[in-house]
This record gives sequence, C-alpha cells and structure tokens, in this order.
Amino acid sequence: MTRTPLSSSLDAYEIWFVTGSQTLYGDETLRQVAEQSQAVAAGLDGLPVKVVWKPVLKDSDSIRRLALEVNARDEVIGVVAWMHTFSPAKMWIAGLDALQKPLLHLHTQANVELPWADIDFDFMNLNQAAHGDREFGYIQTRLGVARKTVVGHVSNPAVRQQVEDWQRAAAGWAASRTLKLARFGDNMRYVAVTEGDKTEAELRFGVQVNTWGVNELVAAVEAQTDADVDALVDVYLAEYDVAEELRPGAERHQSLRDGAAIELGLRSFLEEGGFGAFTTSFEDLGALKQLPGLAVQRLMAEGYGFGAEGDWKTAILVRVANVMGAGLPGGASLMEDYTYDLVAGDEKILGAHMLEVSPSLTTAKPRLEVHALGIGGKDDPVRLVFTADPGPALVVAMSDMRDRFRLVANVVENVDAPDLPQLPVGRAVWKPAPDFATSAACWLTAGAAHHTVMTTAIGIEVFRDFADIAGTELVVIDEDTTVRGFQRELRWNQAYYRLAQGL
Ligand code: MN
Repeated sequence: MTRTPLSSSLDAYEIWFVTGSQTLYGDETLRQVAEQSQAVAAGLDGLPVKVVWKPVLKDSDSIRRLALEVNARDEVIGVVAWMHTFSPAKMWIAGLDALQKPLLHLHTQANVELPWADIDFDFMNLNQAAHGDREFGYIQTRLGVARKTVVGHVSNPAVRQQVEDWQRAAAGWAASRTLKLARFGDNMRYVAVTEGDKTEAELRFGVQVNTWGVNELVAAVEAQTDADVDALVDVYLAEYDVAEELRPGAERHQSLRDGAAIELGLRSFLEEGGFGAFTTSFEDLGALKQLPGLAVQRLMAEGYGFGAEGDWKTAILVRVANVMGAGLPGGASLMEDYTYDLVAGDEKILGAHMLEVSPSLTTAKPRLEVHALGIGGKDDPVRLVFTADPGPALVVAMSDMRDRFRLVANVVENVDAPDLPQLPVGRAVWKPAPDFATSAACWLTAGAAHHTVMTTAIGIEVFRDFADIAGTELVVIDEDTTVRGFQRELRWNQAYYRLAQGL
C-alpha cells in the first residue's frame, strides 16, 4: 500500500498578489502600475508562504477567470488584493462572488513619503489607492465577503506580521479542508462536550471524520517486524532520557518494545489512509497491549492532530495549530485543565493528560518512563515526561453549540513549574489572562471544553484570522476581558450567528 508521510510544511503553498486597475489610464500608467505592484509584492518576500505577483486586472471577465483559477489550484491558498489606481468595483462582483479562498485586502501604496515638491496630476492618477481601495472595500462589504484588511506600507514590520498571521491562518484552512481524521473507537461514555456533529464539521471545516474498529489498528501493530522495533528503540535511546528499567536487557524493556510497535503500527495505518489526525479511546483498546502514550506524543510533535477519549474536535484544532505554527519555535498539543493552585493572587493551572501531551512544548530532553495507569485495564504504558517551557501560550477549545461550533481561546503564560517528582506525565503550568478568576468564569460561561489545543508557536491573531476565514465564532479571553463584557458578547453572538446562517 502507498504510504504518504504527513507534511506540515508551508513550502508548497502560494498566495497570489493581484492588483486592480482599469483601461482608462492608458498604457504608460498601466506599465507603471505593473512595475510598482511587482515591487510591492516583492516587499512581501521572505514571509512563510511565497507571494506570487499576477498581471494587473482591468476588467470583469479577467477578474472572474482569475478567481476560478485560484479556486482550482490546490497550491494557491489565498489572494492578496490591492487597488493601486481606481478599479471601478462593479468589475469585481463576479470575481469576488466566485472566489472560494481566503482574501486579504492590502491597503497600501507604492511610496512611503510623498514627494511634495514634485507632485503633479500624473502622480495623483497613479497613486490613488487612498480612494481606489475605498471603492473596493465598499463592494466587499456590499457582497458580504469575508476578508482581512491590512493597512500600511509593506516595509512596515507590523504590516508584514499581519500578512504573515493571515498566511498561517490560510495554510491552516487549506490543511483543514483536506484533513482526514481517523477515530479508533467512539467517545468516552457519557461525556457531553466531546460529542458533536461530524457532518457539520465536514461542511464547516472540510474535515472528514470517520471511525475505524480498533482491531484494524491492532492488526497494523502486530504486522511490525522485530527489526523495525529495534530501529525505533534506538531512536528512543538517542532522543530521550530513557529510564534504566526500559533499556535493552533491563526487566521492563518489553514495555518499550510494545510501545514502539504501537507507534509503528499507528504510523503505518495513518500514512496508508492519508490521515492527518486521529483519536483513541481508553474504553475501546481491543487487543492493544497499552493505551497509546509515547506513540501519540511523538505523532503530535510531528504534526498530527490528536484528541483523547474520542475527542475529534480537539484533534482538528491540534492539526490546524501544527500547520499554522510550521517552522516556528514551540508546538501544539492536546491539553486538559487538570487542577489548580489557588494561592490568592498567584493562581496557576496545572494542565496535563493521562499520557498524551506533545513534547513539542519543551526544548528540554524528555524522560521516557513506564508507570501504572489505573484507567483502561491494560499493561503499564510508556510515556514521555517533561514540563512545557515557560513563555507565551494560547489554549483553544471547540464546543458544538448545536446550531454552530464555538471556539474559545484564552491567552496564557506558561510559567516555571515547581519540581513534580511524583507526577509521571507531560504537563504545563500556566497563568491565564487577564487573571485566574476572570478567565475561569468566562470559560465556564462560554461552555468551553476541558480539552484544548495548547500552542506555544502562534498567537491569538492567527486563530482570529482562522476563525474569520472559517466563518466560525471565536470568543477570546485576554488582557482586555471582563466577565460582564464577555457575557454581553456571548449574548450578541447568539443572535448574530443565528441571523448570519440565514432566516
Ligand atoms: Mn481527557
């Protein structure tokens, strides 16, 4: 069977840069528009997704054809549009109506400073984005086109950062639209928030969510050879601080070999099926010897999405966050708010999971250990033990509100953890913005889940752009949040998102 290794790279993607004008100005002005717009597009060189300049658009039919070409090309994940001159916006109706990819309206100019002493009316005719883009803004709003608007010269680092954030969100969207997610077993019995509408998820995010019997995974695990297990054990010995009892020849080495076989089997199943995300369920392990821990941790760190206890919604978020953070320091992981340190004024959240936290959250060498697990009734599972690096982070959860999906994000700060010598799992300790009580009250009020994706690679702006592209509600808890204001936002959103679906 063909195996396709997972990629989270942004290298194969393109953003097309389009410039609007019209034929009215004559060849000389249009030549300058072409030249200067190439320079503006080149000003976006070096961003994570390549920006490709396209010839200046001057009429309705070419705009519509460009939109159709963008739609048809998988590698083109979005469009940046700029009206250097005046492009009468009725020309854009058919094209914007056809466009199915993310759009960024770049409100910019070729020049930074005005050459005051030399300005004549030719200059004014050439450099009129100040009103050309307003005409374009009108038609986008009139048509209800979702887009990000970025204002300023491309030499401004703040402008480049906003374009980069949007590029990353567009890449997350492209990954989501092509994501296949494999569930092994169903959701944990009786749990509410991990349930959801899988058909709606495919409509909304493009993700195919389907279930396989866990014994198909068992068959893949049992098909692994001793030689392949040996080779993977060598990788573990090189990459981790492996507990003495797990080393070759030691009394619990077989546990490590069983864990390696699970990783090899899981990987082969995912690669053969072209899956980018998966879930497991400790209540449905079939003939698997251990609850997958180490394997899941390593696959998340490679870019796979994962949710425990059948939580496919969080698995989507982990995959999307991994793609959006491609190439940046840090990573993305399943996380679960577990327990609190409630010392007044210094409250902290200790997050972890039974096993499945991604080692991409640490730059330290994780320890590879084996311990009993009271849940699941299987052999003691092997797992990586570490604490997430201190630094800025974000947790995001997805809830199914029945008529829509709701994303809830909290801006947090991972902090140094005290020693945790008796806690044998990967974990993070954080302080949420704006403060613990406000954060938790808002989180509970929003009906946000106990499972999240924690990302240390990307900030809230990338997730805001992703939610806008996806047309999905996102409520953010950050340094500006108050409980009262947040409650009002939830009430308004309740009305807005129902109206926006159409009456
Ligand atoms: Mn859980």
